[in-house]
Amino acid sequence: MTEIVSLTDVRRSYGEPPVLACDGVSLTLEAGEFAAVVGPSGSGKSTLLNLIGTLDRPTAGTVRVDGVDVDGLGDRERSALRAHRIGFVFQQFHLAEGTSALDTVADGLLYAGVPRAQRQRRAAAALERVGLGHRVAHRPHELSGGERQRVAVARAVIGDPPLLLADEPTGNLDSVSGERIVELLGELNRQGTTVVVITHDRELAERIPRRITVRDGRVTSDSATRDGAAT
Ligand code: ADP
Repeated sequence: MTEIVSLTDVRRSYGEPPVLACDGVSLTLEAGEFAAVVGPSGSGKSTLLNLIGTLDRPTAGTVRVDGVDVDGLGDRERSALRAHRIGFVFQQFHLAEGTSALDTVADGLLYAGVPRAQRQRRAAAALERVGLGHRVAHRPHELSGGERQRVAVARAVIGDPPLLLADEPTGNLDSVSGERIVELLGELNRQGTTVVVITHDRELAERIPRRITVRDGRVTSDSATRDGAAT
């Protein structure tokens, strides 16, 4: 198996006096895994995802993504790493009003330096992939919440990143739409993408093969480790 994410004794503190949002996490994700990060509000789930996604830097410890030691990289190199290797989906869809689904998704390739015509072609294919081939010209206000989140997922995967990170992607959705989004993430995973998703929803988490539980900035259980406890 190939390691796609590796955290070694990672810490992240905020403010003064310091709050340890991530308190010594060591974690490995193999390429092709589908993992849920669960835990109460304020336990450090988003911090962990942001560290994996190189949106944040650890106070101590090391982060490796897809074979690259992230700690030594400057901001520009991190942006390039994200543009080519990591897709992000958030609870808020961040879709621009008045912009069609096709253009929104095509924008996902802006930072990868892909010419416009090719961006549009690939956006159409990405929308097909998430089951929205019939909604390419629709604007956000013409789409349901679930469809908007599908557009956000299409935008995240248009560049075919090996790693997809989703922070509470079902948080604003009704339970049926939320289930469909998790099914979609599962489909993308079966097609080869490594997926890490934060969810509050225990039932949804139960459908995800690996569950990593976080509490007070620490991993308190991980279904992938033999004894179910953090190493
Ligand atoms: P979760 O995603 O599980 O709700 P977070 O990772 O957002 O948890 O937050 C973990 C802890 O770190 C919380 O106590 C939160 O208040 C704190 N925290 C997160 N981000 C910041 C920040 N930018 N500045 C100060 N404190 C933060």
